[in-house]
Amino acid sequence: MRPTTPILSIALTICLMILSGCEQSGAAPPEKNTTPPGSTPMVRVRVFGPDGKLTGPVDVPKLVLTDAQWQARLTPAQYTILRNKGTEPAFCGALLHNADKGVYVCAACALPLFETGSKFESGTGWPSFFKPIAEENVLQHADNSYGMERTETLCARCESHLGHVFDDGPRPTGLRFCMNSESLRFVPQDKLATLAEVIPATQPAATQPSANVKDKAHDSAEIVLAGGCFWCVEGVFEQLDGVTEAISGYAGGSKETANYEAVCTGTTGHAEAVKIIYDPRKISYEQLLKVHFATHDPTTLNRQGNDEGTQYCSAIFYASEEERQIAQAFIADLNDAKIYGKPIVTRLEPLKAFYPAEKYHQDYVCRNPNQPYIQGIALPKVEKVRHLFKDMVKPEPVVKP
Ligand SMILES: [Zn+2]
Repeated sequence: MRPTTPILSIALTICLMILSGCEQSGAAPPEKNTTPPGSTPMVRVRVFGPDGKLTGPVDVPKLVLTDAQWQARLTPAQYTILRNKGTEPAFCGALLHNADKGVYVCAACALPLFETGSKFESGTGWPSFFKPIAEENVLQHADNSYGMERTETLCARCESHLGHVFDDGPRPTGLRFCMNSESLRFVPQDKLATLAEVIPATQPAATQPSANVKDKAHDSAEIVLAGGCFWCVEGVFEQLDGVTEAISGYAGGSKETANYEAVCTGTTGHAEAVKIIYDPRKISYEQLLKVHFATHDPTTLNRQGNDEGTQYCSAIFYASEEERQIAQAFIADLNDAKIYGKPIVTRLEPLKAFYPAEKYHQDYVCRNPNQPYIQGIALPKVEKVRHLFKDMVKPEPVVKP
């Protein structure tokens, strides 16, 4: 999903330039390193592994150098901006209009900071992003210099100044990370392997129980979607690389009536839904939404083709406020772009509980490929997802002959 590009009038642009303070060339002294001698301060961030994919979070040593070392390491322009919190002139940065696919890393320490998918043209004259590549990697500090209340952004590993963040960005975050080109280095997508970092085999912090839970959470995530008959939805999502399991079941109603016979009456409040367990390092929540909206009709209320009843509604059961916001923005973008010609009626509901369906409903497409309903309705959807999302599917179709 791409953010909506804000159309800024000249007046607004000028106001933003003034308010943003990006134009100031500050010369505040760099913060002193207060770490006791002999100890290496650590920071928890996400880095690229040898497979060219973002991994972690992992604990890495902070990059702490003396002022003289920074001066020797950086160009004069980089030093002014990164270490003395300076700002490059608007509309002059080398990365302002860069639209190539890839990742923006810290110019001082190569920590991954932003990626192309979250870059947008803000009209302010500085490279702008609506979110960092990983929250851990970009620090935010209150900055009250120049008589303004702003939020400064810094690289988490070397604490170099990057720019500021403002709350006038596009969906889905509403944020604008206003960066200096000089603070960033662009790495094209096909060169991401060059960012690979050696991750220590022993991660001291990861041995703590809370860290284990967090790491596990980043390896596996869940989403519950409804889009008509769950046999079809399950068949579609099982094709995707990064989806480890798709389970047919019921969501939106109570435990007592979460069985096929009762749900079929259309009076229990349940939707036939599918719980998708996925690896967010391989496939994102947004990508799953994209597939969902491409493989069912979200404009027909409580109906998919001939299947009619509240159990066949289109729905997204969100597990967090962040998921709700992303889904809502995703639907708004589709409506704005008039993709379907009719308004989307997909329900957005908090996920209270998911009840797996009876065993004979699981892997139904795989086990019944010759059944007329599967041949006529489900398999064309499977073919569609494999055709439309060639880069996202498993090498072989997950349908047993
Ligand atoms: Zn850095």
